[in-house]
Amino acid sequence: MELLDLGKTEVYLQLIQNAIENEKTAIVLVPEISLTPQMLERFIARFGKEKIGVLHSKLSIGERHDEWNKIREGKAKIIIGARSAIFAPVENLGIIIIDEEHDSSYKSEANPKYDAKQVAKYIAKQNNCPLLLGSATPDINTYYNAITSKKIELLKLTKRANKSNLPEVMLIDLKQELANGNRSMLSKELYTQIQNNLKQKRQTILFLNRRGYSTFVMCRDCGYTVKCKNCNISLTYHSYGNKLKCHYCGYEEKLVTICPECKSKKIRYFGTGTQKLEQEINKVFPRNKNYKNGYRYCNKKKFS
Ligand SMILES: [Zn+2]
Ligand SMILES: [Zn+2]
Repeated sequence: MELLDLGKTEVYLQLIQNAIENEKTAIVLVPEISLTPQMLERFIARFGKEKIGVLHSKLSIGERHDEWNKIREGKAKIIIGARSAIFAPVENLGIIIIDEEHDSSYKSEANPKYDAKQVAKYIAKQNNCPLLLGSATPDINTYYNAITSKKIELLKLTKRANKSNLPEVMLIDLKQELANGNRSMLSKELYTQIQNNLKQKRQTILFLNRRGYSTFVMCRDCGYTVKCKNCNISLTYHSYGNKLKCHYCGYEEKLVTICPECKSKKIRYFGTGTQKLEQEINKVFPRNKNYKNGYRYCNKKKFS
């Protein structure tokens, strides 16, 4: 089944509207990070502040108490919140909506451990109401169940909300690049696109999911890899400070130049991190007066 030309939030709003008109309530779960004032404003604009209860971990105990009572007394008809909002004391539930259902934050790692999606499934069943899982990139389990079982119905939004075009995506096989004699970490296509951007004085953002310079250090002769003493995972080479670092516990070690196992000097650095990419970009696109390379690392630990 395909839905009309709406964004998913508009679909949620209309479903909630429908529940309210039938004198029922609604729970909307969103990942904590998406619970922004702008996001709430869209719901408030449609339904009014009085009807909305908000629950998330950033509330003070007093605020949480107020919101909880507002819900329990039945004043709040629409509960919006992070995963724990699934436990809101609502009555007469008409729908549960889980936005960005693939998001890992719906599973609580702290005690008591629970999966808000599983809890939602149970509560929806108890209340005989629908559960809507929304995502542009669904969880593989959800998606598989939706296409194979009758328990989940797959509803597709086939057009973008603002009718904008989808960006063009190119997938480039770096093995093929290598076979064609391109030993750079940038594919020919990427190089050309960056160059075009620079000519037009446009910016480029490069994403790479590895920090540091090289992702692991190995002895060519015996295969020894340098690992963290605490975590037993490969240490990452960071060119700043010339250190090997553990990305789990922060353990640091000096550079290894001689293999501790076989005393070979053939220690090599493998894999690619953001620092190596930076170096490559500086080499391939040297700074000149027409443009300037600017780097900003967007890492959890800044500039590491
Ligand atoms: Zn060795
Ligand atoms: Zn470690």
